[in-house]
Amino acid sequence: MPGLLLVATPHTGRALRAAPTQHLVLNREPSSQAHNIALRFSAPGSLLLRSPPRRTLAGFVRAMAKDQDLNPANTSAYVQVLGVGADAPSSSPSVLLFFDRQRYLFNMGEGFQRYCVEHRIKLARMSALLLTRVSAATAGGLPGSLLTMADSSAGGLLAGQASMALHGPPGLSALLNAYRTFVNLKDVGLGMQELQHAQPAVANELVTITPFLLTAGEAEGAAAAGGEVSALGAGREGPTSTSDAEVTAGSTREAAGKDGEERAAKRLKPGEPGPGAVACYAAELPDIPGKFQPQKAAALGVPRGPTYGRLVRGESVLSTNGSTITPADVMDPATPGPVVLVVDCPSAAYLPALAASEDLQTFAQGGNKASKVACIVHLTPAGVLALPEYQAWAARFDPGASHILASAAGKAGQPVMRAAAGVQAKLNALDATVFPLQQSLLPSDGAGSERAIPLPGGVAGDNLLRFNLRPVAKRGLDSSEVPEALSAEAVRAELAASPAGEAIAALGPAAAVPGDHPPPCLASAGPRSLEVTFLGTGAAVPSKYRNVTGTLVDCFEAGALLVDCGEGTLGQLERSLGRAGTAALLRRLRGVWISHIHADHHVGLASVLAARAAALGADAPALTVLAPRSLRRALGAYAALEAAPCAWVDVACSVPGAADVPEASAAALARLAADLGLARLVSFRVEHCAHAYGLALEAAAGWKLVFSGDTRPCEAVRDAARGATLLVHEATFEDELAEEALAKNHCTTSEAVDTAAAAGAYRTVLTHFSQRYPKIPVIDANFQGSVGIAFDLMRINLVDLPRLPSLVPKLKLLFAEPEDAGVGDD
Ligand SMILES: [Zn+2]
Ligand SMILES: [Zn+2]
Repeated sequence: MPGLLLVATPHTGRALRAAPTQHLVLNREPSSQAHNIALRFSAPGSLLLRSPPRRTLAGFVRAMAKDQDLNPANTSAYVQVLGVGADAPSSSPSVLLFFDRQRYLFNMGEGFQRYCVEHRIKLARMSALLLTRVSAATAGGLPGSLLTMADSSAGGLLAGQASMALHGPPGLSALLNAYRTFVNLKDVGLGMQELQHAQPAVANELVTITPFLLTAGEAEGAAAAGGEVSALGAGREGPTSTSDAEVTAGSTREAAGKDGEERAAKRLKPGEPGPGAVACYAAELPDIPGKFQPQKAAALGVPRGPTYGRLVRGESVLSTNGSTITPADVMDPATPGPVVLVVDCPSAAYLPALAASEDLQTFAQGGNKASKVACIVHLTPAGVLALPEYQAWAARFDPGASHILASAAGKAGQPVMRAAAGVQAKLNALDATVFPLQQSLLPSDGAGSERAIPLPGGVAGDNLLRFNLRPVAKRGLDSSEVPEALSAEAVRAELAASPAGEAIAALGPAAAVPGDHPPPCLASAGPRSLEVTFLGTGAAVPSKYRNVTGTLVDCFEAGALLVDCGEGTLGQLERSLGRAGTAALLRRLRGVWISHIHADHHVGLASVLAARAAALGADAPALTVLAPRSLRRALGAYAALEAAPCAWVDVACSVPGAADVPEASAAALARLAADLGLARLVSFRVEHCAHAYGLALEAAAGWKLVFSGDTRPCEAVRDAARGATLLVHEATFEDELAEEALAKNHCTTSEAVDTAAAAGAYRTVLTHFSQRYPKIPVIDANFQGSVGIAFDLMRINLVDLPRLPSLVPKLKLLFAEPEDAGVGDD
């Protein structure tokens, strides 16, 4: 074996002590992760965004020593459903292909990081992410993860990870292009490669992963070749329209002018999962050779010594009497390597391509790899699974293969963010109106009824369901990690029996504060005037208990507005309103307002736009998105990838007195305010980062709702919030951390409360808490009178405002026990 000489240093000594075996002679094959990626991505047509970080010698030795274990016979291997968003059906679940030394992930929908925090899944050794489609549903969690990777100081999940390879269908480079506005990709060790049909994306000692690209049939008019799509996204620096504040995203494609591009653009159908190819994958594990039997060799007259080695390596040799001895003569039979298929057929339009795929046919009955298929993971949506054409295709496989329905099962079942759902169930016991149960905790309609399995013979792809591949003795389905069901009833009963529960009950039902003077608008308000739902109340990175920022302002018949839209906003809507309720809400959504460019405020926008387009169908009009200028390019890039019509308006245009407001923007703003029944919709500059804004909404009916956005305490918020019916104010830090608040341009609790008092707001709700306060911020004497605390999925109706403060003493009792250690930072 060729080797390299190892020069020992104190570092290597430590590394070698840590390594179980003494691999002083290292295989010169550059098989370490970093080298693999560097080599693979030096191929033409691929892109290495940054050379892998230089390893210390110790790190290099460690990696090389570990790579010595890339022996398929020694590793355990399984495939597992990561039910990201299983209670929020718009997001694709992920599928993990696990080996002791390598991990491969298929798809990364929104909420992925939060899911991993919740389930203590460490993906620091993740080797590659493989996308089945280029879409918000399958890649919505990627920008957040890239940001965490880039920010190694955040101590996040993927921080410090050396490098990750990213594979996806054509259009992938355009997707990354869209992220460039807010992710500095140079800071991430990321190798990116667009897939080529039937060309292995991963090939090493443990596994070969080969993509098979499917394109939509002509019948749907969506035969757009991936090439056209990437041309749309790749070479362009964003909208080409010159007038700054013009409505853009919808016009991005038209602006291109080229016939082919226009045709490709027109083929995009709202709700269709991306214009280009969809990838199905075959992950093939190698055969494990049988054991060499020296007795057999001796009996056949094979001379001892190097000849044995040649037989083990697969060569035939001559015996002492001159006859040819083949390896099969002296070795046990090989154990065939299992195959896992990951199949995504996002709509009926892709069925003809699926059925006609000769590559996939080699794994079906009659094909030469049919008997190796152990497991087929279907990411195909339930609606498509149920189609007879799909079922006929699935029936082609060996009856011994397991069919796991990853995206069709557990949807109506269990909350995936169990920690947050548990807190919510407790809060629900305090006030069922303000803290409604999330949909997955509601009693199901057909209580006790069997879950419908859309594909005969398939198994529900419950969260964390595994299929063990190796060792061979354990091969098969394994539900030992699937979490137990969470019951809101049980949580409530436990609370009621606890001292805290008894103390809370003793306080009686929430009621208006004595001596309260509600503003006149409340006298005429009804339950369908205004309702504010907090979809995310945490800062910076999503955590177990709090998602990142997003708030729904629901004016019911008059429509609705989203105020900020962090990653997972769509999922939170689905948890709050259910699938049908979310579709109805999206149909009457009139606009989205984004406060500033920090990623925790807008990364969920693409998913919301795509889901809205799906809810409205082919004629979806563009949605007005008021956002800082820097988001315009990202919106334009998204528009080329997925049917998600939106019309960007510079949020600066909504500041009173703004100069040079383009006519189209002024008209869009006026229309938005009128639609929502507002007398005024104005943004105001706050002190946080460049182009950071707060928002004030004044209804014709008299109420005034004000959002501070992320900010230091400032005059602008005080002015805007004067006489507000409800002020939603950030309070990122507790008072002890005043210096940090100053350094990071945020507010402490007291600064927020003081602003509210100075403005004379009737009610104030604090939000945007640092994730160091996982459940509840530090609440002290400041919390009296008019101030409340936001929780995820909390719903504040105008008519409930008077009793809001009476909840605070109960919250103090509920969260009296010490906090868990916080995660992430601000
Ligand atoms: Zn923020
Ligand atoms: Zn911010």
